[in-house]
Amino acid sequence: MNEADEKREKEQAQLKFLVGLQQKDNEINDLKKSLEIIPGQIAAAQKELEGKKSKMNALQAEIDSLKKQRGQLEQDAKTEADHMAKTKTKLPTVKTNKEYTAILNETEAIKVKISEIEDKELEIMELLDAKEQEIPGLEAEFKSEEDLFKQYKQKKEAEQARAQKELAEAEAQRAALAKDIDPKLASQYDRVRKARENVAVVSIKGETCQGCHQNMQPQVALEVRMGLKVHKCQSCDRFLCFTPEPESEPQTESAVPK
Ligand SMILES: [Zn+2]
Repeated sequence: MNEADEKREKEQAQLKFLVGLQQKDNEINDLKKSLEIIPGQIAAAQKELEGKKSKMNALQAEIDSLKKQRGQLEQDAKTEADHMAKTKTKLPTVKTNKEYTAILNETEAIKVKISEIEDKELEIMELLDAKEQEIPGLEAEFKSEEDLFKQYKQKKEAEQARAQKELAEAEAQRAALAKDIDPKLASQYDRVRKARENVAVVSIKGETCQGCHQNMQPQVALEVRMGLKVHKCQSCDRFLCFTPEPESEPQTESAVPK
């Protein structure tokens, strides 16, 4: 093997390593991104569930308040009944018509009060009944939401564990890969990747860099296409490689001539 061939082979190998490194870094990046969003997804689902729980708590608080009102009305009714009994005991001691009329008026007033209290009690009881009937439905709804949340959380935690494992593997693979690259190229790669949103190796399309869409010299494009040399884009500084475009699907409209 002559010196030129040897040099070319070395260049080709380096380019292959750079492409591999970029693929690994993309993989690592994607895994890190999904690991970043998972806790937020779980927290959002939990918040939604807590919202449902607070709806149930609000209903329970309403029921408790109605029961308290009912208790107070029962107490009031008892007080009025006592008042009535006490007023009636005065009757045998009545001496004048005026006194008699006064007692009669008083018992009438108490009757009205009792009737009002009973109306209110009835109203509260009906309301209480309606509210209590809402509980089982809400409870069942909450239970099923809670089950769904538990399943979702479990799924997300499994996803998280899997991504963590894959990330550790990908990082180990990346470290192994980086060892094979010329240290000078490796440090250029790292520098460009940091400066250019994680992308340090891009494919060309025709004579255009797919990273910055600037054209390059035809000779450069040719060498990149043939994998002869490690080139960098003059505009964006990224390493250039060539990935053939996947065959496009035949267009159904024009594929069959009429
Ligand atoms: Zn470029």
